[in-house]
Amino acid sequence: MKVLKFGGTSVGSIKNIKRVKEIITDGEEKIVVLSAMSGTTNALVEISEFIKNNNSSEAIQRIKILEQKYQEVLYELFESSNIKQEVENYIYLVFEFLKEGVFEKYSELLYNKIVSRGELLSTYIFTKYLNQEGVNAQLLPALEFMRIDKTNDPDDFYIKQNLQRLIQDSLPADIYITQGFICLNAYGEIANLQRGGSDYTATIIGGIVKAEEVQIWTDIDGMHNNDPRFVENTHAISNLSFDEAAELAYFGAKILHPQTVMPARKANIPVRLKNTLLPESYGTLISKEFKGEGIKAIAAKDTITAIKIKSARMLLAYGFLKKVFEIFEKHETSIDMITTSEIAVSLTIDDAKNLVSIVEELEKFSMVEVDNHQSIICLVGHSVVRHHETHRLFKVLQDIPIRMISYGGSNNNISLLVNTNDKITALKSLNSYIFDFEVV
Ligand code: ADP
Ligand code: ASP
Ligand code: MG
Repeated sequence: MKVLKFGGTSVGSIKNIKRVKEIITDGEEKIVVLSAMSGTTNALVEISEFIKNNNSSEAIQRIKILEQKYQEVLYELFESSNIKQEVENYIYLVFEFLKEGVFEKYSELLYNKIVSRGELLSTYIFTKYLNQEGVNAQLLPALEFMRIDKTNDPDDFYIKQNLQRLIQDSLPADIYITQGFICLNAYGEIANLQRGGSDYTATIIGGIVKAEEVQIWTDIDGMHNNDPRFVENTHAISNLSFDEAAELAYFGAKILHPQTVMPARKANIPVRLKNTLLPESYGTLISKEFKGEGIKAIAAKDTITAIKIKSARMLLAYGFLKKVFEIFEKHETSIDMITTSEIAVSLTIDDAKNLVSIVEELEKFSMVEVDNHQSIICLVGHSVVRHHETHRLFKVLQDIPIRMISYGGSNNNISLLVNTNDKITALKSLNSYIFDFEVV
């Protein structure tokens, strides 16, 4: 059994929905995970913002614009039949639900309910479209099996029990369709796996059903060696190890949700990244094999906060770092990068929710400086720290100020911290120093 996930662009137009049907109808049994149609989740997030700010007229206006889009999908994808009527009724109910939500008191739960409608719509529409085309497809509602626990980790036991039960109880099908991104929390309420979370849904399911492979189908031909949104002439990398891919995903390569690799690595299931718009291109295969040496790819993660903590008593009295770490532990805030000197330690966090309390506690025994608007640039490859070409990256010091460097923490990763205003220059310079030897 394979698990195939299709992202927003892949199901974002009639043309692409038809392409996806071609890709998945190859006679093999599979589970297909779908995102919302592109633009839908963003629209739903905006609608929630208007509700939160008590701007009900704008919220209603946006709901109507979105509804119009789904009416067009309905008329373009379905021929007149009972199936079309069912889809029309479903779309009607979803939009009635959204309109009623405008007059409810805003809460996180309301937000979660609203954003979940994107995946509910795309999967319903797509399953009915497959049925119309004579494909034996069944919908497996994610809200009946996908659940996270109190620490936001997948509740594997619950997921396994309920997914097996759903498959057994469902009519036999060649293709099972389910929603990415959405899930229940530990209290049984609607929640989600954070933005971009459909990738994570796919590998969680892959791990549970012991899939032979998980495929992530998107709008680009695999993991590129640099961020194609900011750097020209990037290219796809054919093979990545789980460790390399996990570092890139965690440090900002948007093609993969940060946690996607974990369940696949745990269950040793290869993950293939493929392009829906160009299915014949090889893509990227992520597996336990390490291939090649030296820097393979660069990624960047924004909204990082750097904190410099200077010891009030000089010369790193032992116990100082312990006290620092305990504060971060108490506030459940994880640290990404860290560097130390004799009198100070600098570290970074990406979740600044508890920053004020953290700083307050640190200031009881140290001097603290906070820099917002930082980006971590992460250079990844097998044994990068030992490779003879790695020194090239340090040329970037000529171009921009580097706030921190982390080297040697792992063999596969070197990280630089820069001001976010310098990020694109840094990505471009690193690209030419590392991958484009003529320019060096
Ligand atoms: P989907 O909707 O299919 O999940 P995403 O937009 O989440 O697609 O991810 C694909 C996008 O990720 C690409 O279009 C590309 O702009 C962006 N991206 C950022 N970094 C990388 C990278 N290193 N390799 C490939 N794509 C990347
Ligand atoms: N639709 C969700 C989002 O836009 C999940 C996903 O696309 O993976 O974040
Ligand atoms: Mg995505």
